[in-house]
Amino acid sequence: MADPRQLVPGTDRVLADPEVAAATARLGHQLVKHAVHAAQERARNGEIEPARVVAETLAALPDSASSIRPVLNATGVLLHTNLGRAPLSDAAIHALREAAGTTNVELDLHTGRRGPRGAAAIAALLAAVPGAEAAHVVNNGAAALSLAATALAQGREIVLARGEMVEIGDGFRIPELLSATGARLREVGTTNRVRLDDYRQALNTNTGFVLKVHPSNFVISGFTASVPVSALRDLGVPVVVDIGSGLLHPHPVLPQEPDATTTLADGADLVIASGDKLLGGPQAGLLLGGRELVHRLRRHPLARAMRVDKLTLAALEATVRGPSTPTARQLQQDQADLLRRAERLADALNAVGIPASAQCSEATVGGGGAPGIALRSAAVALPERFAKLLREGRPPVLARTERDRCLLDLAALAPEHDDDLRHAVLAVD
Ligand SMILES: *Cc1c(COP(=O)(O)O)cnc(C)c1O
Repeated sequence: MADPRQLVPGTDRVLADPEVAAATARLGHQLVKHAVHAAQERARNGEIEPARVVAETLAALPDSASSIRPVLNATGVLLHTNLGRAPLSDAAIHALREAAGTTNVELDLHTGRRGPRGAAAIAALLAAVPGAEAAHVVNNGAAALSLAATALAQGREIVLARGEMVEIGDGFRIPELLSATGARLREVGTTNRVRLDDYRQALNTNTGFVLKVHPSNFVISGFTASVPVSALRDLGVPVVVDIGSGLLHPHPVLPQEPDATTTLADGADLVIASGDKLLGGPQAGLLLGGRELVHRLRRHPLARAMRVDKLTLAALEATVRGPSTPTARQLQQDQADLLRRAERLADALNAVGIPASAQCSEATVGGGGAPGIALRSAAVALPERFAKLLREGRPPVLARTERDRCLLDLAALAPEHDDDLRHAVLAVD
């Protein structure tokens, strides 16, 4: 009998298979060749039949040449930093695709000359927030803060309340970020309390600006006091406010969450926010405020190093001008609707013998804003072992584990993905 190892098809023969060749055109030679070698190896080891090498290769290939792939968010955390924060609206996704090729991002088609980069995204922001005279967009909220600190306070002082010295996540701390720009921090007040007089006494001729940072991922309660923007406006130095989440207007569901319009009306000279939190757009850092101040930021040499790409500009403009975002819709969901979806899903799983039950649950906005606020939601409860199986499934599903149960919370999952979620559970059972 022939050694089965000699029956393993050669690499060239596998690569010439029409389906494998099509995959090579889609994914590139390297990726496909790697999968072929792995399948050949398994055949040589006797783990699969030599005749199955092509099928095995095809089955092992990823859907795309990028390993960043769609994940179903069943955590009940609307803005999950590990899952890429806000999912984009269809309008923003369309804009991204259009912008992916050659574009007029920095060309005035009318005159044929170089045009102002990002002008349309800026115009969209100014139309949405008429209280801002000017706006600038950088890579993320942290970049916006660094640019403001560098351009307005390098070698000078930034006055900041102790209770607002926030760690954003993954070990990054706003005070350290500010110090790294060459500005000096002057802390005022205590962890729980700060008064207008504390700020007043800290000011001197070397003050760059007063900074207020929204505590976007924690709550201090009890014996507390902070100073509102409206009281800081008369101190005679610029007031910069990092609102974090990027709400442009007050939100009925999140009355405590600061927004750009109100913060500017209260007297902030510059508002800083992220694009991919409650605004529901792409990763970006927004700077909104007075014309002269924003101009100084835009002309600073460092601005060039924080410049956003055409994809971000396209998605941001479409987010601000376009229809409501998935994040905005998820904030306004009716718990009864969510519970009906959970019941439908649980029924379908029960029908094939999977022990699932629908229940009410509490979702959260996430690290992007509204700390301590519970959003009424609904979930499907499964045995705990499903959590790991689902995370490693295709597509991966991220669930929440609570009291030995795997909860599939529907608050952060678009209804059009309910079928995908059901298939994902069926596939791992
Ligand atoms: C999220 C956040 C940041 C950081 O913004 P990124 O866009 O993640 O860089 C800064 N400040 C506050 C208050 C935040 O909530």
